[in-house]
Amino acid sequence: MNTTNDALKVLKEKFGYHSFWPNQESVIGTILEGHNVVVIMPTGGGKSIIYQVPALLMEGMAVVISPLISLMKDQVDALRANGISAAFYNSMLTSGEKQEIIDQVAKGALDLLYLSPETLLMEHTLHFLKRTKVSMFAIDEAHCISMWGHDFREEYTQLKSLSKHFPGAQIVALTATADRVTREDIIQQLGLVDPKVFVASFDRPNLSLAVLPGQRRIDAIYRFLQERKGQSGIIYCLSRKGTEEVAERLQELGFDATHYHAKMSRADRDKAQDDFIHDRVQIVCATIAFGMGIDKSNVRFVIHYNLPKNIEGYYQEIGRAGRDGAPADTVLFYSFRDVMLLKTFAMDSGQPEIQLAKLERMQQYAEAQTCRRKILLSYFNEYLEEDCGNCDICKHPPTRMDGTIIAQKALSASYRLRQNAAVGMLIDVLRGSHKREVYEKGFDKIKTFGAGRDLGYYEWQQYLLQMLHQGLFEIDYKDHRKLKITELGHKVLFDKKPVSLVKYQPFEVKKKAAPREKKLTKKERMRNDMYFALDKVRTRLADEHAIPPYAVLSDANLQVMAEVRPAYVDQMREMPGMSAAKYEKFGNAFLEVIRAFKVEHKDRRSSQLLSFMEYKSGKTIEEIAEERGLAVQTIISHLALAHEWGEEVHFAELIRPEMLERVLEAIEREGVDTPVGALASEIKNGVAYTDIYLGLAEYKRRLRISGGE
Ligand code: ADP
Ligand code: ZN
Repeated sequence: MNTTNDALKVLKEKFGYHSFWPNQESVIGTILEGHNVVVIMPTGGGKSIIYQVPALLMEGMAVVISPLISLMKDQVDALRANGISAAFYNSMLTSGEKQEIIDQVAKGALDLLYLSPETLLMEHTLHFLKRTKVSMFAIDEAHCISMWGHDFREEYTQLKSLSKHFPGAQIVALTATADRVTREDIIQQLGLVDPKVFVASFDRPNLSLAVLPGQRRIDAIYRFLQERKGQSGIIYCLSRKGTEEVAERLQELGFDATHYHAKMSRADRDKAQDDFIHDRVQIVCATIAFGMGIDKSNVRFVIHYNLPKNIEGYYQEIGRAGRDGAPADTVLFYSFRDVMLLKTFAMDSGQPEIQLAKLERMQQYAEAQTCRRKILLSYFNEYLEEDCGNCDICKHPPTRMDGTIIAQKALSASYRLRQNAAVGMLIDVLRGSHKREVYEKGFDKIKTFGAGRDLGYYEWQQYLLQMLHQGLFEIDYKDHRKLKITELGHKVLFDKKPVSLVKYQPFEVKKKAAPREKKLTKKERMRNDMYFALDKVRTRLADEHAIPPYAVLSDANLQVMAEVRPAYVDQMREMPGMSAAKYEKFGNAFLEVIRAFKVEHKDRRSSQLLSFMEYKSGKTIEEIAEERGLAVQTIISHLALAHEWGEEVHFAELIRPEMLERVLEAIEREGVDTPVGALASEIKNGVAYTDIYLGLAEYKRRLRISGGE
């Protein structure tokens, strides 16, 4: 019987991870008990592990159904980098390659086979699959089977007959689409009897959330990018032209940016995507089409240059950041123009009511005065108890002020213009602008002309937006988007009803608290410098093995390595993400750079390390002692540390076996934490301190290998 204990072993050995994430363990346990399951988990929640680990434990081969052919190769490459025997079978292969895979399947040589739904149910595919034992079908992006989902795919409907063709195989359906109707439809369509359904939290606490006014966006992005040199990110724009323009502006400012949209040639799109995946280009300015077919785990930021049209889309897009679990930042620019543009689109769409309602929820999010994450999650019927602490509202709570006078000025100006002005014109009049249009219309003659000079243009824009959403004004879309005063607005204007507004905060003010200004401690600087050096090695290894850098190790994993700076083989083996196969391929390269770094920067225990490195280079203990001006005993104690962490140090030459036995016995009796002096007086008879150091090293090494801590 496979147990979750075996699962943990596989996780460590094959994937290099030390523990399961919430939900992974219980779902895997349920699969191993033989149930069909449906898993709803957000992007980045770790869905792949859920079927990959059982696939390695269950008898037979697991078939993974995935709609995106472009993704299959990456997924298979990632598995192979971990020494797992996996393959994909789709229309991109030559017939020779196909035959090879069929042979492997027949021999039972594969643990995982990736298939597209259209290939799966072809006569000959069914034929070769039926000649082997299929343990399970993992159906990725399972919502594609449902008409209710947002991504229905005809091919997926064929999966209905899966359980008929393979009655013995378990089914694991996975999706990041949350809504109940789709979920139930998946179960029904696949004909799953009594499946176990898991709904994981949609919270992604590692993603920071922020909304900024959509003014001087390039300035704001410039400052944002200053602090994120070399980090990967996506900037989503509403229009194709927007992607090109923003990319160009960023290039002019010296950033490494490119653009991506559907009107580009296939080759150009592939290149942009490929460069991004391999960290050859830092920033992609793209329409929302970008990001679907990529699995890049180290996207560190997502910026929405324009307002998305609904929360589902927004959440999916920001979800492409920080899939490795390391902190990632998201910024949404919120502007008036976008709202109006999107409203027009919504009204021209087939379902104006639905689209407008969705847009409204998006606006409410953007204008939130309370924790944004609470609002976001409540959209997915999930409720946070506490404020998140990682959104702009939590970090800089807005200050409210009495806005009655401001509101009265705006309403009065609008009233005197006989409600004939749209937002831009109203601001111009309030600020006493000398634009020709203002004079031509005679708007400079009204009493309130220039009454709002004390506030800047952007300030007025912000306040008018707030007034709109408090219902003092409404926009007449049928009449050139002119502002009309509502009943509530009349109460403010004529009955002195008070108005509260959130104080305008320009971007600059907020930036004061940004990490850039604060001085890094020595510790942080070391970690950053180490990360930088490790990142370079990672890029080199990725090139050598023709895989993307994040497939060597994720950013999150690299960050841990930069912090811990493992200098010996067994320390390296314990790094997160360092599966046995990855250790074989990459371990040494990372060790080398860490060792050199530690010695150069006189890092923790670098003296011990230096002795070991000299020893490794062929010098004798005496030579090292002489050269370093240290006692021979000291050098031996240094080597003891290396021995403890799995390095070869000709142990037998350093301590006699009988002595080792005596020391080990004493440690066993007295406990491994006993001070060296106390152990020495316990053992007596000619024991040297170095013997005790060596004994302790050996003891700890064995303890670690046997799995104790
Ligand atoms: P999803 O398919 O749900 O979007 P993935 O399966 O791609 O998510 O997982 C996202 C990232 O998290 C991957 O880099 C994966 O290797 C990593 N990951 C998954 N499970 C764990 C775990 N238990 N410990 C550490 N990292 C994990
Ligand atoms: Zn918050």
